[in-house]
Amino acid sequence: MTVLKDIIAAVVETKGADFKLQNLKIREPRQDEVLIKIVATGMCHTDVIIRDQYYPVPLPVVLGHEGSGIVEAVGPAVKNLKVGDHVVLSYGHCGECAQCTSGSPAYCIDFYNRNFSGADIDGQMAICNHHGDGIHDHFFAQSSFSTYALSRENNAIKVSKAAPLEYLGPLGCGIQTGAGAVINAMKVTPASSFVLWGTGAVGLSALLAAKICGASTIIAVDIVNSRLELAQELGATHTINSKDTDPVARIKEITQGGANFALESTGRPEILKQGIDALGLQGKLAIVGAPPLGTTAEFDVNDLMLGGKSIMGVVEGNGSPKKFIPELVELYLQGKFPFDKLVKFYAFDEINQAVADSKSGITLKPIIRIAS
Ligand code: NAD
Repeated sequence: MTVLKDIIAAVVETKGADFKLQNLKIREPRQDEVLIKIVATGMCHTDVIIRDQYYPVPLPVVLGHEGSGIVEAVGPAVKNLKVGDHVVLSYGHCGECAQCTSGSPAYCIDFYNRNFSGADIDGQMAICNHHGDGIHDHFFAQSSFSTYALSRENNAIKVSKAAPLEYLGPLGCGIQTGAGAVINAMKVTPASSFVLWGTGAVGLSALLAAKICGASTIIAVDIVNSRLELAQELGATHTINSKDTDPVARIKEITQGGANFALESTGRPEILKQGIDALGLQGKLAIVGAPPLGTTAEFDVNDLMLGGKSIMGVVEGNGSPKKFIPELVELYLQGKFPFDKLVKFYAFDEINQAVADSKSGITLKPIIRIAS
């Protein structure tokens, strides 16, 4: 018989609605699954766009995909995790397809199904209400706006107990995305110029990573002055408020012709053309921002071709979370990757305030404390 555990989880019932805390139940872990007692979960822009149905994840659903916590129970096929381990939850992937086995699990052929289907790979939900009705879950193979979450062994990343667990959840998505786009995807080089379009948590994580890579000119572009001020504090050599200043002309002036590397994290298609225009010869631009499905963008084809410029899409920072997340934790412990400066904590029942503060620009990376 399936054993069910009582949980409290934040549910989105209808498109665009507030998160509602509800008393629900979750089943025990099977096979390679692990049950995690969630300590804290980051709020990412992606939770908000799913709440608003940019992607058609079925409702009602428990979101949350930047969880950190402690292993509470393991399924019979789990080999390398044990009760009490500290883990960061990252995205789901099959571990068996050509992309997964060649070290690129972010491009797993089953990525959408395992992260956005609102159920397990067999179409079953693990969370239900007290009448036994299923609530959609397995969001990013975790649904961690909840006191307990089920993940699989391959997306629960064991981390050092020397690091403060309540800070680490965003390493599972937003922070590894920005840092990985710079370190793993574009491979930003020493003494190069780097532009971040958008200074949210993803953009600023990219900034911290560009400093680690030795970029000497780091230009932050945004429309919110307080975010640009933080970018400067964290190491941007130049900031541009694109409401007041033509960003392309200013970037070309600063870099004497165009930037070597750039990251698009605003999710706005019109920024793509500006980002490409502001690249120098053989410049590279990585896109991580996520507009609604079906969004298209325009750019000057000859400018791209004749300049030898390239654009690439990047999911979750490329690389392997099993390797990359512990590396980021180590850089943090050495004081080289101070992502904690991006964070503000909220209580679980303040989850809707966290969304509002993130939207208004007051808070960069909200983290919801789940365990009291
Ligand atoms: P965020 O909303 O905090 O940051 C976006 C920033 O863009 C904000 O600071 C905003 O002021 C700025 N911006 C908006 N319009 C602008 C404009 N016209 N010019 C300049 N700046 C502008 O979001 P975030 O958490 O940093 O996430 C960034 C994006 O990355 C989101 O779209 C999110 O969904 C996406 N994301 C993608 C992945 C991936 O794997 N590709 C992973 C995590 C997040």
